[in-house]
Amino acid sequence: MEKYEMEKCRITPDWDPWDAWYTRSEKGKYELTSVELTVTNLCNLRCEHCAVGEQLVEKDGIPIPIDFILNRLDEIETLQTISITGGEPILSPKVVKETIIPLLKYAKSRGIYTQINSNLTLPLSRYEDWIEDVDVLHISYNYRHAEDFYRMAFGNFRKEVSFEVAKSLFERMKENARTLSKAGIFVSAESFLSPFTAPYIVDMHQTIQEMGCKRHEVHPLYPSDFAKGMSLLTLQEYREAIIHLLDHRHPDLWILLGTLPFFPCSNQDEDLTLWKRIFVDESNVTARQDPDGRNRLNVNVFTGDVVVTDFGDIPVLGNIYKDSLTEVFERWLAHPVAHKYHCYCQQARCTGPNILVAQTYYPDWVFKERKALITLD
Ligand code: SF4
Repeated sequence: MEKYEMEKCRITPDWDPWDAWYTRSEKGKYELTSVELTVTNLCNLRCEHCAVGEQLVEKDGIPIPIDFILNRLDEIETLQTISITGGEPILSPKVVKETIIPLLKYAKSRGIYTQINSNLTLPLSRYEDWIEDVDVLHISYNYRHAEDFYRMAFGNFRKEVSFEVAKSLFERMKENARTLSKAGIFVSAESFLSPFTAPYIVDMHQTIQEMGCKRHEVHPLYPSDFAKGMSLLTLQEYREAIIHLLDHRHPDLWILLGTLPFFPCSNQDEDLTLWKRIFVDESNVTARQDPDGRNRLNVNVFTGDVVVTDFGDIPVLGNIYKDSLTEVFERWLAHPVAHKYHCYCQQARCTGPNILVAQTYYPDWVFKERKALITLD
């Protein structure tokens, strides 16, 4: 590990190291640049929309020794980013000490960017010792007020939780975001667009700006795990919500549109106009080409199983006990599902759809046979 000591460029709308665009456009192929590690299945919340909700447990298993995991990461010469997810990664101090801190230390020594996904509801002291080594602190924000948080975050909780307890967690999350942002931490708050959140997305954007967050990520509600039965926006409603947000956004707050369900090969003029608006007309607005299924793998630190994304229905592709991650990635590139969705249109800066988005909104499209109808200057 001592062999590495690298400098990193700042994360900005012009440089998002998770974006699958860079490697695909520069190297002409996908490389494994990103690994996500599921470090716990514990969580103090049970959000109704949780995309890994069915995997949450009351007690974690025994993780694979961290040195073994770091050796597997060390084999990936092209690695640029590590994401740490759960569950709630910070809930167990043991997970923080024995898994998260060594991962952050390792990433720092290699100049690798790091993201941690946290609900930020724990006392600030639980973050303070190590948070400066994180490049992106990713939180969820889908609420107008504590009542929404109570309903959404405890919708699937089996134990009784009072409104007062939920309210104090909600207030703490906002306060933590404010304090950490003020201290210079890059807090990126993510909202999903659904029939419930879409009418309030501008209000949420405003609150996220007031909390001092550097970025507002917006993506569709993924119909996975707990969220499987929840209703989704139509494409028309989704488009209107994005346009409404762009019309009323705070110009200094970076908006990152993740897994955007619109493409430059659409036959609808409004999709092409929206694509151009995002990529050409707006500043501080980006549409990320999805790392899931392109340049990232997810590793479960308890089982060693490797999947292409931590939610979705693609079966396990390998296991770090017997496979290197680059071998698993090559296996994924040869997979029929990857073949089906790995289209690419250089002139429109598009690398095709997220798999869940394609299956949900475009089940009849043959993406490989389509072509962008616009060129970005
Ligand atoms: S064919 Fe694929 S890469 Fe080309 S515009 Fe459509 S979705 Fe994007």
